[in-house]
Amino acid sequence: MFTPRLFVAAAFALAISQIVSSQAAKPVPKPAAQLDFQLAGAPLTADVSNARTATMLREVKPQQIKASIAKLVDFYNRSTISSTETDLKPGTGVLAAADWVKAELDSYSKACGGCLEVSFDESIEQPGPGNTRFAKSTPLKSVIAILRGADPAAAKRMVLVAGHYDSRSSDVMDTHSFAPGANDDASGAALTLEAARVMSKYRFPATIVFAVLTSEEQGLNGARHLAERAHKEGWQLEAVLNNDIVGGDTTPGDKLQSKLRVRVFSQGLDASLPADQIRQIISIGAENDTPSRQLARQILAVGRTYMPQAIDPVMELRLDRFLRGGDHSAFSRVGFAAVRMSDWRENYDHQHANVRTENGKEYGDLLKFVDPEFAARVTRLNIATLATLASSPGTPQHVRVDTSNLDNDTLLRWDPPTNFNQPVRYQIVWRETAANDWQFSADAAKYPGPSENSARMPISKDNVFFGICACTAQGACSQAVAPVPARD
Ligand SMILES: [Zn+2]
Repeated sequence: MFTPRLFVAAAFALAISQIVSSQAAKPVPKPAAQLDFQLAGAPLTADVSNARTATMLREVKPQQIKASIAKLVDFYNRSTISSTETDLKPGTGVLAAADWVKAELDSYSKACGGCLEVSFDESIEQPGPGNTRFAKSTPLKSVIAILRGADPAAAKRMVLVAGHYDSRSSDVMDTHSFAPGANDDASGAALTLEAARVMSKYRFPATIVFAVLTSEEQGLNGARHLAERAHKEGWQLEAVLNNDIVGGDTTPGDKLQSKLRVRVFSQGLDASLPADQIRQIISIGAENDTPSRQLARQILAVGRTYMPQAIDPVMELRLDRFLRGGDHSAFSRVGFAAVRMSDWRENYDHQHANVRTENGKEYGDLLKFVDPEFAARVTRLNIATLATLASSPGTPQHVRVDTSNLDNDTLLRWDPPTNFNQPVRYQIVWRETAANDWQFSADAAKYPGPSENSARMPISKDNVFFGICACTAQGACSQAVAPVPARD
């Protein structure tokens, strides 16, 4: 229905749209960078790469990874609870697989003059209300190899890489059907073995732990046992890189898989922290600056530095995928910085599924769906991260932001990393609060504060998130540590 009032409204709307479009035709030129947070530092670029680390990456062999996955598949069924069966064919089952993993790590150790301390991390799981995937008392065997740090002080610091070697079929209690688990997670186990093979030829100031874990599928039991042991024994564990489903699922006809991306999952706010800590984190908006998230950002930095064309690590701002869990969460739970790396897209027909063909569709986690070249790229990303962190001074301690005054500067203070006796250079990184990855950086020495190990930045602390990294003179940096408010 036409009315004069509607006509006026329509004419007015038309006039406004003409004004808007004529404004759109003349874009307002953006001024050159002149904001405080842009002026104070340089846009973040790749870190200084290390020639020795670059050499290590070239030593990673896709064929070696493929052979390890094939060997693990040959154990037919690596269900954790197959360890209690007495009727398995020789050379099959989870314990045969454990023995092979240990023998493999022992052989790498022999080749480096005994440089790896190889052992089983053993435990026993009992069935119970919280442990329903066990029918009876079940022995567990994870395999760990420790490459002790070459610097007596720095050797107390540790970084850990992991994958799980157990597998499952459709029924998690089935110990006899073929359960190849090629991608989930022979790929992560093979990655861990390859990292051990390559890195055992080198020495690092800090200690590296290679963990081939068991019982992920029955409820993260192997990871939980090792994480609780590390916690109880006071391991100074600064990073846990868990690799689960890193075989680059390759399904014929799938156009949506990306072989240039790997997902990096990590925990945000930890609900089990004391209430006052949670309140403080929420009050400053630091939910996305947990130690695990800083570790994930460091993996992004390593990717930029060592393999910018080969793989793009992508931060996923959640602990894990929907309806799924992983071994990293067992380490997160006891307070260690931990991440999980996984394929960009999974194929659920190829996981936790009995091997079969139905209506022309193939089910099962078979070797032929794995791409060893992709697994090799993720292996290189892990090695470069481990090498960087194990060569770095470790994280700065007690990092705080001064909140004594209302002002437009930011005063940061920190204590040096523990157990590092060489000179340390501190790098300050920051990003706008709506950004996820670091955007800018500056050498802390450029902004001296009132005391040693402090910096006064000409940037408002309200508008950015800061982090402080500790670096060697050669440029190996720790992951960043976010400051907490303090008045000291
Ligand atoms: Zn898995």
